[in-house]
Amino acid sequence: MPSYKAPLRDIQFVINEVLDTENLYQGLKGYEEATPDLMNAIIEEGAKFAENVLSPLNQSGDEEGCVWSEEGVKTPAGFPEAYKQYVDNGWPSLSAEPEFGGQDMPSMLGIVINELAGTANWSWLMYPGLSHGCIKTLEAHGSPEQKQQYLPKLVSGNWTGTMCLTESHCGSDLGLLRTKAEPQADGSYAITGTKIFISAGEHDMSDNIVHIVIARMPDAPEGTKGISLFVVPKFNVNEDGSIGDRNSVHCASIEKKMGIKASATCVMNFDSAKGYLIGEPNRGLNMMFTFMNTARIGTAIQGLAHAELAYQGSLEYARERLAMRSLTGPKNPDGPADPIIVHPDVRRMLLTQKSIAEGSRAMLYYLAQLGDIVERGDEESAKKADDLMALLTPIAKAFVTEAGLEAANHGIQIYGGHGFIREWGMEQIARDARIATLYEGTTGIQALDLIGRKVLGSGGKLLMGFTEMMGEFVAENDDEAYAEFTAPLTKYKDEWLTMSLEVGGKAMENPDEAGAASVDYLMYSGYVALAYFWAQMAVVAHKKIAEGEGDTAFYEAKLMTARFYFQRILPRTMSHKESLLSGAENLMDMPEAMFAF
Ligand SMILES: Cc1cc2nc3c(=O)[nH]c(=O)nc-3n(C[C@H](O)[C@H](O)[C@H](O)COP(=O)(O)OP(=O)(O)OC[C@H]3O[C@@H](n4cnc5c(N)ncnc54)[C@H](O)[C@@H]3O)c2cc1C
Repeated sequence: MPSYKAPLRDIQFVINEVLDTENLYQGLKGYEEATPDLMNAIIEEGAKFAENVLSPLNQSGDEEGCVWSEEGVKTPAGFPEAYKQYVDNGWPSLSAEPEFGGQDMPSMLGIVINELAGTANWSWLMYPGLSHGCIKTLEAHGSPEQKQQYLPKLVSGNWTGTMCLTESHCGSDLGLLRTKAEPQADGSYAITGTKIFISAGEHDMSDNIVHIVIARMPDAPEGTKGISLFVVPKFNVNEDGSIGDRNSVHCASIEKKMGIKASATCVMNFDSAKGYLIGEPNRGLNMMFTFMNTARIGTAIQGLAHAELAYQGSLEYARERLAMRSLTGPKNPDGPADPIIVHPDVRRMLLTQKSIAEGSRAMLYYLAQLGDIVERGDEESAKKADDLMALLTPIAKAFVTEAGLEAANHGIQIYGGHGFIREWGMEQIARDARIATLYEGTTGIQALDLIGRKVLGSGGKLLMGFTEMMGEFVAENDDEAYAEFTAPLTKYKDEWLTMSLEVGGKAMENPDEAGAASVDYLMYSGYVALAYFWAQMAVVAHKKIAEGEGDTAFYEAKLMTARFYFQRILPRTMSHKESLLSGAENLMDMPEAMFAF
């Protein structure tokens, strides 16, 4: 397993040179103190924690996994101690609200720290990561008493949280859920049912675990309109906030699974467990939508994390591994063969990993900034940011995790046969990356959300908001020097719109057309959106080189990677376009029975 080295130069490039971070946060109420110096200092500390504490536990955690017993779940050696350090150093409260002990830093900073921690050890990050959803739910929808009771301990990290949605028969379609919530005389609810696949449902890192559970009340309407939200603590909480008696929610088992083995994926039995309603009855799903975007960006980070780690390992290996001679003559004449980095095909894979990781970083930090504008910006900028976020979130979640998986897979290939062997770590990265395209809404579900709700559902308005921004960027950078990046953007923004109109027209006749186009449409959108971020980075790099500010090799590398992306990766849009416009018949004509032949 490669030991992780935080890409601080690239992180600083995106935050300070590509995105207008300083001006943005100076203008957002309450974030004035988030100066570049302070943010850099925090990021550097986060990098040390990730490199020195979390990274060394990544491979051992995978080997060891979690162990279930009647008493609970034991996480791998070193995990609880690392979590204690994380809490002692105040990391969980970084971007939480100050009222309950949060440090009120921008959520973009939280995303950067998650990238660092998650690249070092994604399984470990799942424990504090799930708390985030729980905190956001209570912050947005909890009663004043619930906030007082749970948030201080969750924000400090002394307690962790979970999101209990999935049941054995339903994940994407939560309208089918069966867990029951019976009202009790004391105002609480008796929650009964079994949830599966609950990350961090049980473990040995914190004093209490607070479950956010969706369930159905006795008189609830069918489907998604009858879902209510409850808070169900592992240990009941006394009025003074101290831990009380054990609640009847238990972890029945943990899953044996393909990757993120050190993250406990739990079957949770709720046996008339004491739960408390959050917000209005039957509004559970609507309430969860309020933080769905941030949760999805959190999962998108996983794609970036695995692309980065696979790239770091691959690069080191490609520089050292000797095999055959360069086609243009020996590059290592004193050695028995050349390092494999001389071979065009190995470079193709390395540059694919690099362009995915760096492009995704720019896209995801930008999205995280939009989240901060939505929360703290004036009405007009918040609305604009919200619209952009609505469009870009399903793209980021599905595209970046799919691309991250591809990058991880290249890692195996670059290591040759050794990539398949556990000790080198590349197969673990690919196994760990696989889940990101499934949980928090599968790629197929994100694609339906993009094409159905976001693009066609808004009559193209949300898409036009983004393509207009692309157009403005092209107009602002109307210079021959940047034309290799700006000209394709002009072509793609127009093509994206026309293509969407065409699919929309067909979908009015036959709704299956939207579903049939969806995943190709999403991938097309992902490649084009990433091109927009790569073009921005290329223009900045160009300007820095022209200004002669130094660090030329870094900027030249950026330009060359941008060029690689535009010339070798972006053309994948053509095949996605052709597939998505090919219509629904080639998928839907075959009668179900014929699939058997
Ligand atoms: C390791 C792990 C951790 C998890 N952590 C949590 C957690 O903490 N909390 C939690 O609540 N859940 C968690 N999950 C559950 C996860 O979110 C679900 O597995 C996921 O949402 C998919 O649901 P499903 O498994 O029921 O698949 P299904 O919904 O049965 O989907 C099966 C396939 O059908 C496709 N599909 C379904 N409907 C459509 C449609 N309308 N159009 C096109 N395609 C469709 C899907 O894309 C998928 O390919 C976790 C799962 C795993 C494996």
